[in-house]
Amino acid sequence: MKKVTWDVQYTSVPPVIKYCKKCSKKMEFVCSNKFRVNAERKYLDIWLIYKCSECNTTWNMTIYSRINPSSISKAMLEGFHSNSKELAEKYARNIDVIGKNGVEVGIPDYKIVGQNIDFKEKVELHINTICASKIKIGTIIRQKLEISQSVFEKLISNGSIKGLREEDLKKSKLEKENILIIDICL
Ligand SMILES: [Zn+2]
Repeated sequence: MKKVTWDVQYTSVPPVIKYCKKCSKKMEFVCSNKFRVNAERKYLDIWLIYKCSECNTTWNMTIYSRINPSSISKAMLEGFHSNSKELAEKYARNIDVIGKNGVEVGIPDYKIVGQNIDFKEKVELHINTICASKIKIGTIIRQKLEISQSVFEKLISNGSIKGLREEDLKKSKLEKENILIIDICL
């Protein structure tokens, strides 16, 4: 069986999905890569600032709330003050922090890197990425193979595409490692 590997590379951090008062509906809020640091007496509050993709309304995601300044390193504090991109991306990808703020994680921009499948032989397809996301496996496959949703569903129902763990490929989301068997008899 031929082994093919695709690498899903994120080209942005995920947006968050939350209600925007100005737009009056749930919107994507995009990370601004900027922090807001508020030092009050003995306490420190740190937020990461997001902006509504439609109207630019800002929303502050709590990173630290009322912490003792000595509990974080000087280098890290400097990173917050200087809007370190690396630090912003780290928190924008932190599912726990996003969850604690009561908002949903959106889908980041991404590209799929890897060789095409020619359907002449059975293929063990490995789809890898640096961290799990809400992108559906089905979307990755449809985009890379350039097939429609109905064709994709047909290939699943007749067993031409299946997950190694027998997962439901119509619903399953991208994990760090995903293995599929593709066997299309033309
Ligand atoms: Zn808005």
